Amino acid sequence: MQTIDKFNFAGKKAFVRVDFNVPLDENFNITDDTRIRAALPTLKKILADGGSPIIGSHLGRPKGVDAKFSLEHILSRVSELLGVDVQFANDCVGEDAAKKAAALQPGQALLLENLRFYAEEEGKPRGLAADASDEEKAAAKKAVKESQKEFTKKLASYADCYVNDAFGTAHRAHASTALIAEYFDADNKMFGYLMEKEVLAVQKVMNDINRPFTAIMGGSKVSSKIEIIENLLDKVDNLIITGGMTYTFTKAKGGKIGNSICEDDKLQLALELIEKAKEKGVNLVLAVDAKIADSFSNDANTKFAPVGEIPDGWEGLDIGPETEKIYAEVIKNSKTILWNGPTGVFEFDNFTHGSRSVGDAVVEATKNGAFSLVGGGDSVACVNKFGIADQVSYVSTGGGALLEAIEGKTLPGIAAIRGY
Ligand code: AMP
Repeated sequence: MQTIDKFNFAGKKAFVRVDFNVPLDENFNITDDTRIRAALPTLKKILADGGSPIIGSHLGRPKGVDAKFSLEHILSRVSELLGVDVQFANDCVGEDAAKKAAALQPGQALLLENLRFYAEEEGKPRGLAADASDEEKAAAKKAVKESQKEFTKKLASYADCYVNDAFGTAHRAHASTALIAEYFDADNKMFGYLMEKEVLAVQKVMNDINRPFTAIMGGSKVSSKIEIIENLLDKVDNLIITGGMTYTFTKAKGGKIGNSICEDDKLQLALELIEKAKEKGVNLVLAVDAKIADSFSNDANTKFAPVGEIPDGWEGLDIGPETEKIYAEVIKNSKTILWNGPTGVFEFDNFTHGSRSVGDAVVEATKNGAFSLVGGGDSVACVNKFGIADQVSYVSTGGGALLEAIEGKTLPGIAAIRGY
């Protein structure tokens, strides 16, 4: 497999798929440029070699051409961070893009307009009437798949090589994230540095495991984490199920949970997961106490209660001190750690304590030699809020992509380059 480090970009044009889907405020100012910074090593290497990156990305979820989602909003920041005056093509497959790509000189860079201005990027039909028949839907799908080939070919035609550095969209078989790779032979397609790091981190957690391996799964709903929890039961020694999911498990076991968040249609599933964990010899760790509140608000009255004895009118919004101790003990004795999701409503300052204590334990374990991977939207927000992002082994930029990789799924963006 080709690697970016070995590749010499001198005199070459590289189509680089990045994830510049950054948050913008109402005046289109970037509020967090982490994703742009994350792609800089790859882009800088191409420029330093004397190559020319042609940068493609999506921004937001436009339904067609929509100035709100124009990548022009981020052009000056990309130029500033990259240290070159990046050119802009106002239509990713228009004449302007073809001309500017063809004229690009070594050391120059071109940013293409939002790839998702075209339905062909995702390969999903747009603008179908709500009452469209199944035949109409199938015809529209076929049409967009057909035109997707032309779209992909056009993007590929700008460049001599293809670099995928967009881990955040690696779980999507889109034109620029996967299909485009077909137009380049094995020597001329590769992961960017960010993608390489992400793939390596997932590999370490999934295949290259030092034991004990502990997964901490938080978040609100069992239903959104079920596949990953089932897959993890085959891999981990300890599984901490926490956050809002706690109360579905507690109720399933016959506990009283007051007004706590609960999926009543998943009670049976929770019992089955408890059984499965037992069968597989996995230590399933659930909370024993909770910080409860008399309303869903930061300013609610609070107290601590055993997790299965929450009075009516009260709800669990974080774990309690006994649970913190139990989790910390398990985490500190681990050699591989995966953390996805908070222990409570960490957005409210009065309910961050549990998540912070998990963060502290993960940091301590990491200091003692454990490999710790933190990923999935909210846990990244957590480690950033607690200022510990640089004290864990790896913070993934991928939300859905990371979870699908851990579920054991093949990610199209990775398979398109690596072959599996
Ligand atoms: P998820 O998106 O499934 O990873 O869930 C993350 C969300 O779960 C965060 O916004 C938390 O506020 C929320 N959450 C965690 N614990 C609780 C809880 N005990 N009650 C309600 N929401 C919770």
